[in-house]
Amino acid sequence: MVQTCKFCGGNVLLGSGIIFAKNDGTILVFCSSKCKKNMLVLKRDPRKLKWTSKYVKGGIKVR
Ligand SMILES: [Zn+2]
Repeated sequence: MVQTCKFCGGNVLLGSGIIFAKNDGTILVFCSSKCKKNMLVLKRDPRKLKWTSKYVKGGIKVR
């Protein structure tokens, strides 16, 4: 079973990634501690980071 990283959108093979359970019961899957840190600690937007598959070329348009 392959899941996608909640942050970068990359594939996470079962057993190799990081499963993080939030207090409200939400399960978050991360491919690495780097992604976990960026989402939970740094609270970065993956669309602004070039190394994620969610990156939007040219940046996000803010209305
Ligand atoms: Zn990731």
